[in-house]
This record gives sequence, structure tokens and C-alpha cells, in this order.
Amino acid sequence: MPFCPRCGWEYEEGVTVCEDCGSPLVDTPPPPPKPGEEVLPETVYVAHGLLRAEVVRSRLESEGIPAILQFDSGSHVFGLTVDGLGEVRVLVPAHLAEQARQMLAAAQEEAAEEPF
Ligand SMILES: [Zn+2]
Repeated sequence: MPFCPRCGWEYEEGVTVCEDCGSPLVDTPPPPPKPGEEVLPETVYVAHGLLRAEVVRSRLESEGIPAILQFDSGSHVFGLTVDGLGEVRVLVPAHLAEQARQMLAAAQEEAAEEPF
């Protein structure tokens, strides 16, 4: 079955160009999404240093948003980031990313009002 790689429409055999967008049709259908496949997490915060990242994570988790930390430079070696100021990304499930960003933005506004 030919289908459009751009829009994903399936066409009758013999059709070679997408009626919708004009793309040449291809024969291989896109891989079907696996049931229960996890959506890739989204980065909602980049912290400098593990401590800050942990604070953000615990804040998110207190709101019921599960968060994971991902260390910079693809290194998962814990010791490399503990003492340094490497970047630590805070990731949450994609469907909770918007909620998490709003929460963190609100938290930052709160913090900005505090005198340093
Ligand atoms: Zn198309």
C-alpha cells in the first residue's frame, strides 16, 4: 500500500503522488507505535550542579510529577558531577512537561521576590 511519508495518508495501489501535499508516495508503512511505548521525556530545567537539580526534582515530585536527572556530556558517572558545576538536566514525561514548566516558572517568580 503506498502511503505519504509526510502526512501518513494511505493510497490505493497505483497512486504515486500524495494528493494532499504532492510528496512522492513510498511503499513501506511507518512503524506502528508500540502499545505502552514510553513517550520520550522532555527537559524542563537545566541546573548547574547536582544539588540544584535535586531541589528542582524534589519540587516537581512534591507536585506529583515524576522527574529524572540526566547529567551533561552523556556521562552517567555520578562522581564526575557531584563536586563540579556541570549541567544537569531535569526531565519529566512529555505530557507533564507543560505543567512542570509552569510550576517551575511560578517557583522562580517566588524566589525572585526574596531578598538575597
Ligand atoms: Zn502528503
